[in-house]
Amino acid sequence: MKTKVYIGIRWKFLAIFIGCTGLTLLFVLLGWLLASYLIAYSPYNRPLIWVINHIGSKITGVVFGISFFAFLYITATRPLVLYAKELAAVLEDMASGRFHASTDVKTADELGTIAGNINSLSEQVHSYLDEINHGLTEIAQGHFDYQIPVRENHDLGRIADSINAMSEQLNHSIQEERNAEKTKNDLITGVSHDLRTPLTSILGFLEIIDKDRYTDEVELRYYMNIAYEKSLSLKKLVDDLFEYTRINNGLPLHLRELDVVGFFRQLAEEFVPSLEKAGMTLQIHAPEQPVMIRADGDQLARAYENLISNGIKYGSSGKYIDIYIAQEDGHVSIRICNYGEPIPKRDIPYIFERFYRVEKSRSKSTGGTGLGLAITKSIIEVHGGQISVESSTKQTAFETLLPAAAAPA
Ligand code: ADP
Repeated sequence: MKTKVYIGIRWKFLAIFIGCTGLTLLFVLLGWLLASYLIAYSPYNRPLIWVINHIGSKITGVVFGISFFAFLYITATRPLVLYAKELAAVLEDMASGRFHASTDVKTADELGTIAGNINSLSEQVHSYLDEINHGLTEIAQGHFDYQIPVRENHDLGRIADSINAMSEQLNHSIQEERNAEKTKNDLITGVSHDLRTPLTSILGFLEIIDKDRYTDEVELRYYMNIAYEKSLSLKKLVDDLFEYTRINNGLPLHLRELDVVGFFRQLAEEFVPSLEKAGMTLQIHAPEQPVMIRADGDQLARAYENLISNGIKYGSSGKYIDIYIAQEDGHVSIRICNYGEPIPKRDIPYIFERFYRVEKSRSKSTGGTGLGLAITKSIIEVHGGQISVESSTKQTAFETLLPAAAAPA
């Protein structure tokens, strides 16, 4: 490829100026020689003599010289001026938003450099705008996981970055909405199933009674008793369900300062009859001084009632329920331990899911709904806390961590 020699426009204008001046001097000299020659010949000399007599030979020479110089200069600089005008037009196009505009000025000078820069600018911006546009079309068609490539150190790269962040956020929101919809549908399915089972058996027993298909009063009472027991568990399910949806729909909390130790001593009182019935003892291991949290006492009572009654229901073979209360690093830890059969390892990850019951508890029909731990978890979480479980042949321990409040002065 032939490489052009770079000559700056300053030198080009100087060369044109010198060239035009030289040619003008030559033209004036030739004119003077021609006039000197023609002056001797009549009748060609008449206009010459007239001009010499009326205008003067010097003035005529100067006027002709200047006019010739101007003509030459304008003609010689015309291509450079046209290039500059072309560049101005392309820049005007870009300024009005048409970035695909380009120029074919290829001179080896400053104008050529400007033209090259304009072309690469328009090519870069235009191709990147195309990419961004393509990305936006994809996103508009619902492909929210589409990521527009982000060019570093590029102002448009910041726009691409913001669009990516926007589509990610949108994707996240849609996903959350879908999950919420699925959760709602799952809940309805679970509820319908769990309501139908006891209701079907209640209807079955009531039908036997209605059609007088019992042999004596003892059998009648037996059927009525089953129907009654099933109705109670149905009521418990409806109550639990109401509680669960109420908490998960963002119920207002009535927060107040609460001493955890006093709270558990009071709660333990409520369980005296059922503990006695199960032949169990509840022990509270707590520090001497009050352990303060900010909580809704009624909600918290609901949460821990579930844990303690589970301890009685599923741990009665262990005879003890131990509650350990401790304050550590801005948290209050409450561990509720029982010593019955362990929760199988494979069930642990699902234990806090609603309607989830360990297979054995289902078959033993302990009267649970599978909502207790889900309710407890929701209550602990709305209080800014966490719940976890560890279960082994030694013990089953549910631990809750709640943010501590400052102790009273
Ligand atoms: P429910 O008690 O109504 O079945 P929960 O959500 O309270 O529902 O508990 C879910 C399951 O977790 C129970 O079915 C039971 O198998 C198991 N579980 C809960 N607490 C304990 C515990 N303290 N010890 C052993 N198993 C437990």
